[in-house]
Amino acid sequence: MKLVVLGSGSRGNAFVVTSGGCSLLLDAGFGPRTLVQRAKKVGIDLRGVVGIVLTHEHGDHARGAGALARKVGCPIFASGGTLTALGDRLDGTRRNRITPHRNTAIGPFSVMGCRTSHDAAEPMAFVVGVNGARLGLAYDLGRPTAAVRYLLRGVTGLLLEANHDEILLRTSPYPASLRARIAGAGGHLSNRAAGELLAELCHEKMDSVVLVHLSDRCNRSDIARSEVEQALSARGFRGQLFVARQDEPLDPICVGQEPGQFELGIAG
Ligand SMILES: [Zn+2]
Ligand SMILES: [Zn+2]
Repeated sequence: MKLVVLGSGSRGNAFVVTSGGCSLLLDAGFGPRTLVQRAKKVGIDLRGVVGIVLTHEHGDHARGAGALARKVGCPIFASGGTLTALGDRLDGTRRNRITPHRNTAIGPFSVMGCRTSHDAAEPMAFVVGVNGARLGLAYDLGRPTAAVRYLLRGVTGLLLEANHDEILLRTSPYPASLRARIAGAGGHLSNRAAGELLAELCHEKMDSVVLVHLSDRCNRSDIARSEVEQALSARGFRGQLFVARQDEPLDPICVGQEPGQFELGIAG
């Protein structure tokens, strides 16, 4: 499985997974033109996507979903609550409900989801499987609940939120109510919480971790990376750690393959 991070942060989130010539878009938090342009930059034609999977209805995750689905004619997959919350923004698209804890087949991919703790209608974390590779996507999480930790067991790659540094959040100019919302049960995972969860999930076949949804004001990629690196190296993690950027894609990442099987020309 090849993973492309098109961009991630509070101003938009989108990822593409590809396998055997098929692509699946995970979240569509940029306008359709930006999604298409960024994908093109890394050699992916979004006109061929087999579907768009949405974690929840917030604009930074779903902004471009309706327009892109109408443009390329692909179906949208999300929880019933997310589809209802998006309402007429999805008019003219084919919508499919993802039931928690059940496999949903989308082209060659199988998608399993569970409910997350976040202030949205019915937000979900997902694991996307194909050809033995399993990629987790978990962000906009107030807390890593038992259900999320259970879902993410054994993933070979993980896109995980490292939203804020706890000190930078505490000393930020945000009003106290907003700081409490970000740090609360319906908010976002800190670097420390991400490191703790990764230390718990780490196993010898986990080869790629990408830190996503970093806050512009309350985090820095070097701080997030070093905090998580410490937690992972204490568990003997030998894979690769990446930090997503808001405004440009990362080079494609191979997930769930032995190093000798990496496709030529793909930076991993
Ligand atoms: Zn959200
Ligand atoms: Zn978000």
